[in-house]
Amino acid sequence: MPSAAPTTPIRVLIAGGGVAGVECLLGLHELAGDRVELTLLADGRDLHYRPLAVGEPFGGERARHYPLAAIAEGAGARLVHGRLDAVDVDEHRVRLLDGGRLSYDVLVVALGAVPFLPYGRALSFDVATPKVLSRLRTEVLRGAASHVVIALPRGPHWMLPGYELALLLARDAVPAGLSLTVATTEAAPLELLGPAVSAAVARELADAGVRVVLDTDVELGRGDPVIATLTATGETLGADVVVALPELHAPTIHGLPTTAEGFLPVDADGCVAGAPDVYAAGDCTDFPIKQGGLAAQQADLVVEHVARRAGEPITPGLLHPVLRARMLTGHRDLWLRRDLGDVEDRGTVASHALWWPPDKIAGRWLAPYLAALDDAEAGVPHEAAHGRILDAGLAPAATPVARDLDLLGDAPGRA
Ligand SMILES: Cc1cc2nc3c(=O)[nH]c(=O)nc-3n(C[C@H](O)[C@H](O)[C@H](O)COP(=O)(O)OP(=O)(O)OC[C@H]3O[C@@H](n4cnc5c(N)ncnc54)[C@H](O)[C@@H]3O)c2cc1C
Repeated sequence: MPSAAPTTPIRVLIAGGGVAGVECLLGLHELAGDRVELTLLADGRDLHYRPLAVGEPFGGERARHYPLAAIAEGAGARLVHGRLDAVDVDEHRVRLLDGGRLSYDVLVVALGAVPFLPYGRALSFDVATPKVLSRLRTEVLRGAASHVVIALPRGPHWMLPGYELALLLARDAVPAGLSLTVATTEAAPLELLGPAVSAAVARELADAGVRVVLDTDVELGRGDPVIATLTATGETLGADVVVALPELHAPTIHGLPTTAEGFLPVDADGCVAGAPDVYAAGDCTDFPIKQGGLAAQQADLVVEHVARRAGEPITPGLLHPVLRARMLTGHRDLWLRRDLGDVEDRGTVASHALWWPPDKIAGRWLAPYLAALDDAEAGVPHEAAHGRILDAGLAPAATPVARDLDLLGDAPGRA
């Protein structure tokens, strides 16, 4: 904890223009204002909103992209295009791949994870979405692929999209004769979201005609069709297409301590253990579950600690991870929620929003911000676009519902 508030703004360098990086940028701008001088280092031009990519080929919302230049400008930040290569912790400086250097007082690493295709002959979501999925759907609908296996890997992976793809594909094509199997290493579908959620998702999959094989790895043979062996039972399936969710690996960053798997070890403050003034959030950390909502919650923790260091009179909380997932099913979305800190929580399933704004990535700063951008683009007045029901002039009708909602825009505690 700083002994006195700094008299000049602290220079915060946020590396990574994805979910955690942008959440951090927006949060620090809101909470710390002029007390921080923000720089966003990004290797791309846009924030890619990937969760919608699965639904797009099936007639769902289009996967969205938000220009980082506008986001950075709105947050009063400098945007630097480049790739982080190495961190010199002692010098408080980073080196970029093109040889450039940037100095910082506080560094936030939010580089995400690197998708890695676990099986040789499979499509990966990372390369498959949404163009390749669209091709897959066309092939399946014209009967050119009648057996599809969706394989979820054993290592860290994004848990939701494999099940979403299974349901979307099944609703389209199982009635026309598609045989669809999900092979997962889990003991129950989406088991991290709790037994109540798993039971509901299992029912949904069964109703759609999807076969689920639990507790299994998949081995792929050569040939066409691909022979997929389910290692749990030894059963072999002739698959025209195998879609594998990528396993998530750690990004390479020289100069920072890592776990044996290469992820960044963070302490209870979101600080990288053994690297003073370096924080990390999101899929690049050693937090075992990789998910956008959790990445945003980790970023929120970092925001509070950095704002406090910059002199904001707030009391940072502890990371209290809550899994929130809005699942595409092909007929109506399911809202899934589990408080990971509550051992009694068996998970909640609803067909209505359990948080607000009702986005797929539930981030305290990100979700209201993107909801406002989307509404502005659609010509909806800003008051209604803000995303907090009670602020939006919708209170009378919304009050009974709002009591049950997690309002993602709630401010952290002021000291
Ligand atoms: C198809 C799909 C569906 C999903 N659905 C959901 C969902 O419904 N709900 C949910 O919560 N999550 C979902 N996720 C997961 C979610 O997208 C990720 O967990 C989340 O994006 C992680 O955030 P992050 O900031 O850690 O990483 P990212 O969002 O991946 O951001 C990391 C950023 O850093 C950049 N970067 C990487 N290396 C460097 C470097 N060396 N220098 C500079 N920049 C670099 C990357 O290009 C990227 O822009 C889904 C993912 C996929 C692929």
